[in-house]
Amino acid sequence: MDAEEILNFLQHSKFSIQHPDHQPQQSVLNLHTGHRQTACMRNISAPQRSHKTVSFPVRAQAGGVVDGFERNGCGRRFCGTRFVGSGIGMDYKLNVMERQDARERMVAKQIAARGVTDSRVLAVMREVPRHVFVAVGLQPEAYEDRPLPIGEGQTISQPYMVAAMTAALEPRDSDHILEIGTGSGYQTAILARLARSVVSVERHPRLANRAEQVLASLGITNVRVTLGDGSRGLPAEAPYDRILVTAGAPAVPETLTDQLADGGRLVIPVGSEGYQRLMIIDRRGDRLSDREGEGCVFVPLIGQHGWPEGGVPGL
Ligand code: SAM
Repeated sequence: MDAEEILNFLQHSKFSIQHPDHQPQQSVLNLHTGHRQTACMRNISAPQRSHKTVSFPVRAQAGGVVDGFERNGCGRRFCGTRFVGSGIGMDYKLNVMERQDARERMVAKQIAARGVTDSRVLAVMREVPRHVFVAVGLQPEAYEDRPLPIGEGQTISQPYMVAAMTAALEPRDSDHILEIGTGSGYQTAILARLARSVVSVERHPRLANRAEQVLASLGITNVRVTLGDGSRGLPAEAPYDRILVTAGAPAVPETLTDQLADGGRLVIPVGSEGYQRLMIIDRRGDRLSDREGEGCVFVPLIGQHGWPEGGVPGL
């Protein structure tokens, strides 16, 4: 993402740029390209046993403003047969508009058309640039209706799923949110736009570091990414007004309901390894009530209160 696109994004957001001198460039997103997988994938890395804050300096790089995909003119869906201007600048401007258009279409056709009506959620889904959360080679597909690989056998969730979970969570401006499963950081960015603060736990150091970089490059300052087994929650910062789990659990971990504030809500996919249902759990004083949302398929929540490392027993 280049400076102009960031300014465009910030104009429509409440974020501020942390370091005025910093001109984040697409090059900080030099991610692995990964192989194509349309379904969710099994995570087989070693679990982290303790939480630790990961801190990562954002690398600024002066120079070009166009990422590899657009510079090479190979964007089959975005470039199509349109006229590419006489200079990189013009090419770039067209692409910024096209990405905005792609987000508008994504929201209209994939999200609103499927019944997500919360105007705050729809607005933020139009604003947050999903393409910066995936590898440059996958950016042409960033606004399509599916998850994409992000490395470590993990995925950035389908845009509709991100919107549906966010709508189910009903985040408020004043909320302190715990997210389990940072992944690419895309869902984290969406939550950060809608709440006071977000702390997000990821078990893969590489994903946590990269998500933190991307979030910082967008000027998002109300987010902290930590490394650890999120199935245990993060008791040090509890209680949370909202908890969102973005990986599938065999059951609702009590560790998480225990960390919900009075009036708080937990949204978590629960079920088998191959299929889950969103569970929406509300705390009112000591009482918990739950209801089932829609069906979904997520990568497994691996950890002490999730699935064991290395696969589900008996499968
Ligand atoms: N919402 C993310 C996004 O927009 O990119 C996608 C999350 S991905 C479907 C699920 C993530 O949960 C993976 O990054 C995975 O490593 C992580 N995960 C699984 N078990 C975890 C655990 N116990 N603690 C923290 N993260 C976990």
